[in-house]
Amino acid sequence: MPRQDIIDALGKYTRPFRVTGGEDFQLKNFDPGDTLGLKMDKQEAAHLLERGSEWLAMEQDILYAQDSWSLLLVFQAMDAAGKDGTIKHVMSRVNPQGCDVVSFKQPSDEELSHDFLWRYATKVPERGRIGIFNRSYYEEVLVVRVHQELLKPQKIPPALVGERIWDERLADIARFEDYLTRQGVVILKFYLNLSYEKQKKRFLERLDKPEKNWKFSAADVHERRHWGDYMKAYEEAIRATASRAAPWFIVPADNKWFTRLVVAAAIVEAVEKLDLRYPGVTPEQRKELAAAREELERQK
Ligand code: ATP
Ligand code: MG
Repeated sequence: MPRQDIIDALGKYTRPFRVTGGEDFQLKNFDPGDTLGLKMDKQEAAHLLERGSEWLAMEQDILYAQDSWSLLLVFQAMDAAGKDGTIKHVMSRVNPQGCDVVSFKQPSDEELSHDFLWRYATKVPERGRIGIFNRSYYEEVLVVRVHQELLKPQKIPPALVGERIWDERLADIARFEDYLTRQGVVILKFYLNLSYEKQKKRFLERLDKPEKNWKFSAADVHERRHWGDYMKAYEEAIRATASRAAPWFIVPADNKWFTRLVVAAAIVEAVEKLDLRYPGVTPEQRKELAAAREELERQK
């Protein structure tokens, strides 16, 4: 299939959810239960996803060979939205040697002793690689904003902590992303958009099913009380940082099969747009290859 046809076909799944400019962004305009009217059985969805993952594996091989662009995939979501499962399924075929997944949890003492972007900057993928941030620098304007007491251990000089701190951080993040994209890091940001009701259902499932008990955390239930504050923080973060170069995807997350399809489509589409090819061979390299072949043939 010609490249442009693939891009057009994928656009159907990605365009409705892509945000490239934040001015009038509102979460309420995005339905967590949306499936674009698609009805699929589990098998069909799994089959389609597998094809997408295979495609991605092929592209990753070229990305690695050309050793120039890299891909940074940022995943943000409320608990139980399906970040881990989406990462697992979408990346299932990709060569683990060209891919790094980093989960960002509560920062360590060392991390708290640095500027807020430090720990993330050190994990930006090398050229040719795919980096996945399972949570990211966005936590610095989400959980830290919702629980402002978390700012204190960051040891910022008090004179620099003012009312505008969140706007300042968002501007810093937007500039950091501009910088990275100008360096050849392709950034895609996914907000898995789960509804309040569906989160409750998934938590109850974790309590009801013994094989899901290990996933349950009472702290997550407590955190749910701050849902409204989180939604406000997400909305402001997306508004301030959605750009053409580093778009957000507001991925419906109430149906896992659909979440995975949209994420896979967005990644494949973005890499296709780079129009990557295996590096060509120069005339000198061709001569070297021919000489190596001769030598090999002479050997026993
Ligand atoms: P899962 O629950 O599926 O294992 P998770 O990403 O929720 O995945 P947890 O260990 O449950 O992992 O939670 C990590 C916690 O760390 C989250 O509550 C997140 O908000 C918090 N966190 C991440 N970054 C920061 C930060 N910079 N400052 C404070 N807390 C943070
Ligand atoms: Mg958790």
